[in-house]
Amino acid sequence: MAGRLAPVRQLSVGRLFPRVLEARDMTPAATAAAEGRASVRLAGATRAELASALADAGVPERERNMRVSQLWHWIYHRGARDFSAMRNIARPLLDALAERCTLARPEIVAEQVSADGTRKWLLRMPPAHRRDKGAEIECVYIPESDRGTLCVSSQVGCTLNCTFCHTGTMPLVRNLTAAEIVGQVLVARDRLGDFPGGVAPTDGLVPSGEGVRAVSNVVFMGMGEPLYNFEAVRDAIAVMTDGDGLSLSKRRITVSTSGVAPEMARLGAECGTMLAVSLHATNNRLRDTLVPLNRKYPIEELLQACRFYPGASNARRMTFEYVMLKGINDTPAEARALVRLLKGLPAKINLIPFNPWPGSPYECSDWETIERFSEIVFNAGYASPVRTPRGRDILAACGQLKSESEKLRARARMMLEESLVVGQD
Ligand code: SAH
Ligand code: SF4
Repeated sequence: MAGRLAPVRQLSVGRLFPRVLEARDMTPAATAAAEGRASVRLAGATRAELASALADAGVPERERNMRVSQLWHWIYHRGARDFSAMRNIARPLLDALAERCTLARPEIVAEQVSADGTRKWLLRMPPAHRRDKGAEIECVYIPESDRGTLCVSSQVGCTLNCTFCHTGTMPLVRNLTAAEIVGQVLVARDRLGDFPGGVAPTDGLVPSGEGVRAVSNVVFMGMGEPLYNFEAVRDAIAVMTDGDGLSLSKRRITVSTSGVAPEMARLGAECGTMLAVSLHATNNRLRDTLVPLNRKYPIEELLQACRFYPGASNARRMTFEYVMLKGINDTPAEARALVRLLKGLPAKINLIPFNPWPGSPYECSDWETIERFSEIVFNAGYASPVRTPRGRDILAACGQLKSESEKLRARARMMLEESLVVGQD
């Protein structure tokens, strides 16, 4: 992994937050919104949205496709954050764009780095309208030896109230737009210096070398149920996988669903990404409790949708996620039931040690219990990796997102203010 952070001012913030790096810049859009001006956000935009911004800037139709390609290249391949960097576009057009549009990303409120290298960003989306205060979401980057995975959010909060998930305890504020989902990838690539043809290292970061991607994989496993925000997720995936820009492979994008069975065929047909299904139980009685959506789409219906998932094969297996909850779903009998249930499906099973959060009603299964469970599944012919919890110290692991955001935000602001006072050099 060549992308790395150059030294940034570090702040000592105690045990809970091992490292909080500085954060917060007032984006042009935020400034514009505060002043009551609208500013069209192009970072994260689809090709159609770029074309419409160009039309508004007076570009004649015959020229528009060519201009869209130029903007696309600068925004998504080069990571441009400023119109003035776009050297092959004439000044009058750049001025017209700069007047109406912005290349600002979601605002980084705080960045935390775990002892294991996992990074979590608390991001604020700009207000969508005058009374909107702007939504906040979290996004996590997990570096591994052979890949770098970005875990993105699709909604602010989640309506589905799975009993083991902290995100589910928040009321839904709103769906994210496609641009806000793509914006998470842009922020990560900015911070990791990960644009292949980067115009310049940003914020003192070192760009990665050609062909070396810090963000190689994206999983929709952050806040929210992606299939409850289908169109935005689909459009975001189209931007992420466009070969002239962010160029992520569809096989390296995984959409995780708690089981919105009727939308799964559409996901396969329109997005062609990998599928992960949060199963967590082998009978409807238990799954009704853990994943209340099961009352609407019970296990049989869910597995039927899995059987018909377009593009699934032994070479492209779907993942079943199974959170290990002590004394709830972790017996050998349940491991055998799981194997029977998934018979004939091109599947792998991801065992996730439960990540606790303040006030959570469950405990994580013991290590021996998880190992025994994993062995039964493995002996039945399924890959059954136990997902190593990453970033637990910064509450960045599955199901912990947003847990400490309120506290963190207050804290990060305080630290930032302090650092601004101290660091005026
Ligand atoms: N809403 C989607 C995607 C986001 S949740 C879904 O439910 O699939 C991503 C994964 O984290 C899901 O498999 C979810 O079940 C799991 N998860 C949620 N809370 C967790 C917790 N406290 N510990 C471990 N995994 C958790
Ligand atoms: Fe929502 Fe997924 Fe959490 Fe369930 S596990 S509450 S669907 S984010």
